[in-house]
Amino acid sequence: MENAAETVGIAGLELLTAHETHLLQETKRICDTVIEPRAEAVDNGEADPLDNLKTLAEAGLIGVTTPREWGGQGCSSAFLRVFTETLTAACGTTWFILTQHLGTCGTIHGSENATLRERFLRDMASGNHYVGVGFGHLRRKEPMLLATVVDGGYRVSGVAPWVTGYPYLSAVVFGATLDTDPECHVYLYAPVIESEQFASSPPLPLCAMNATATTEVTLSDLFVPQENFVKWGSRDGMKRGDDAGIAGAVSPAIGCATGALRDLRRVADKRGSGIRALPAATEAFANELATLRERAYAIADGAKDAPDYKTNALAVRAGAIELAVRIAHAAVAGAGGAGNSRAHPAQRRFREALFYTLTAQTGDILGATVSLLSRENRAT
Ligand SMILES: Cc1cc2nc3c(=O)[nH]c(=O)nc-3n(C[C@H](O)[C@H](O)[C@H](O)COP(=O)(O)OP(=O)(O)OC[C@H]3O[C@@H](n4cnc5c(N)ncnc54)[C@H](O)[C@@H]3O)c2cc1C
Repeated sequence: MENAAETVGIAGLELLTAHETHLLQETKRICDTVIEPRAEAVDNGEADPLDNLKTLAEAGLIGVTTPREWGGQGCSSAFLRVFTETLTAACGTTWFILTQHLGTCGTIHGSENATLRERFLRDMASGNHYVGVGFGHLRRKEPMLLATVVDGGYRVSGVAPWVTGYPYLSAVVFGATLDTDPECHVYLYAPVIESEQFASSPPLPLCAMNATATTEVTLSDLFVPQENFVKWGSRDGMKRGDDAGIAGAVSPAIGCATGALRDLRRVADKRGSGIRALPAATEAFANELATLRERAYAIADGAKDAPDYKTNALAVRAGAIELAVRIAHAAVAGAGGAGNSRAHPAQRRFREALFYTLTAQTGDILGATVSLLSRENRAT
């Protein structure tokens, strides 16, 4: 089976160290032999994504972004891109559960609260202590979680509407708005211990990524001690981080598109010369994807204060979203009736492409996506 980086091209691979190249090969091997063959079963709830995480953990691939001194691999952002593309080309569910954890590994490593690192980071890097996140809601206008500073810590109340991978989590890092200042955010580590103060919903029924067991968590006057403080943040800081990450976050959509392209190529081979449009479309999509990938990463690595940065970054982000959906749709069309089977990869990728349309979405990205899709922006 092919893999993401080989299919798309090798842009970025020259930046990897020998150790990272080895880890990437391991990732590809596991994706080809374990994760992708089980992807439909995982998606349909017939196999457990935790088994995939265990396989990655055995190969040292849970702590890829954690520094070596804390038991991780200390990999670069160039590695993280191809790692993300490889996993999302194989199984979106596995990647999405893991990526929340990779985010908290970074947040806890960067925390000014050294005891958090000492207590949890090694176990997090080895896959023995998964920590999810609940802060996407901070982008909304109205606060969802409110924190009050009290003696010895914080009291938090409200609803975190999305917490992914809940059954696998030992803890969650919640982002809450400070009750005295709507512009100020505080991030707090809370162990998953169900109680009157910490209650999860059943997994939300989702059309894509249903197997990620994403829940809504309600906190009712939950006390979080100061020793579990992670960091302060702000609405403005979050917006700056979102703006800086617009183009770099194309990797999941690119990985999904790469997987769909593999499906399309297989279908083209199977149907032979009867439908000549299939190989032609496959080649055209491969070229389009390679061009977009190169452009997106060039913008992601370029100056964020360039006058046209944001316009260009939004164009490639929306472009990646639209291209992933288009290639996944073509793979469904090429597969014919079989493409609608729950056992067929094409329909899974089509739904995963839908998901990459809205994950980590900001108002700007929403606007750029809808604009690109609207007929006004079409040549015909
Ligand atoms: C399956 C799934 C799992 C997820 N898992 C997690 C998780 O584990 N942890 C986590 O933190 N998040 C998670 N998310 C959240 C995800 O990142 C959000 O979907 C994304 O941030 C969009 O936010 P929202 O759903 O709150 O959308 P909405 O409230 O609908 O808003 C979408 C975006 O548009 C902006 N916006 C809306 N209205 C306006 C307006 N009038 N003017 C300007 N801007 C506006 C919002 O600020 C927001 O950025 C998950 C989402 C899904 C679908």
